[in-house]
Amino acid sequence: MSMTMEPQPRLGVIVIRRQPASRRRGEGGTASDDAFWQMLSSCRLCPRRCSVNRLEGQAGFCRAAGRAVQVAKAFLHPWEEPCISGTRGSGTVFFTHCNLRCAFCQNFPISQQGLGRPLTVEQLGRIFLRLQAAGAHNINLVSPTHYLPQVALALRQVRGSGDLTIPVVWNSNAYEAPEALRTLAGLVDVYLPDLKYAADAPDSPARRYSRAPGYFAAATTAILEMFRQVGVPRLGKDGMIRRGLIIRHLVLPGHLDETRAVLRWIADNLPHKVFVSLMAQYVPVYGARQFPEINRRLTVAEYQQALDELEALGLEHGYQQEAGAASEEFIPAFDLDLAGI
Ligand code: SF4
Repeated sequence: MSMTMEPQPRLGVIVIRRQPASRRRGEGGTASDDAFWQMLSSCRLCPRRCSVNRLEGQAGFCRAAGRAVQVAKAFLHPWEEPCISGTRGSGTVFFTHCNLRCAFCQNFPISQQGLGRPLTVEQLGRIFLRLQAAGAHNINLVSPTHYLPQVALALRQVRGSGDLTIPVVWNSNAYEAPEALRTLAGLVDVYLPDLKYAADAPDSPARRYSRAPGYFAAATTAILEMFRQVGVPRLGKDGMIRRGLIIRHLVLPGHLDETRAVLRWIADNLPHKVFVSLMAQYVPVYGARQFPEINRRLTVAEYQQALDELEALGLEHGYQQEAGAASEEFIPAFDLDLAGI
């Protein structure tokens, strides 16, 4: 990935303000352990609002059930954005299952085929500490939405004890309930959401490729809550992110209209100092082959048009990818080492 970080005049419309901590209620520092577990008794963690009792083994759309948190891999990831991976890698934890069904998901063995192993909250906390001890710049939680209560409890244990000191990154698809996200305030330092789609018509990409009705309305509401908590990115002298919001958008072949609408929303609703990571790494894997219009790679010309749009909107803080990013060799193998956990 290359980095474009030149200071730019702010052109966007700021529509939200951060509140002082004293006005926030039910956030990470104050919710009881029992309140977190009760979120699973009638699960409404995401816009699907399945209302299943996961504590009794019922599973909703995402297929997560029970008290255990399922994890497929924990490792030092070298290929995230430079301010996240740095020189030593990002302490990345891949969670099993997902509340979307993206046809082109590069992590489909874990997101849709259930690969992973069940852990307790305590074991998850020990994985965080092991990654920190291995030199991770941060803890990077990949697709954690459906395990929010267990992740929050594990974070509270290892942060409350003073053992975990590196930043925590919530790396999600943004199809999340804002009231659930509010409980993470004070536990998460960096939000790294996708903003995948804009349209919501019956045959729109959000519904067609990810089975996600109302994606844009839900994701933009979630992102505004994330911004309220952490604000614009702040980097340390070492160039690593300490706090803030980075929005990712994967450019899909043949869907530049979606990209334009997504970037327009960011430009109109958030300060332009929020980072935008425009991704070119689309690969037609898994179910993408069932959709002829996306059963190909992104062209250089398409990605350039997306970059031109980014520039025209004045969104010049963030990252773009190099042409070689579109390769299956960047997809990590999923194997969780539990020795000593
Ligand atoms: S997290 Fe899973 S069970 Fe809960 S509302 Fe979302 S899809 Fe349904």
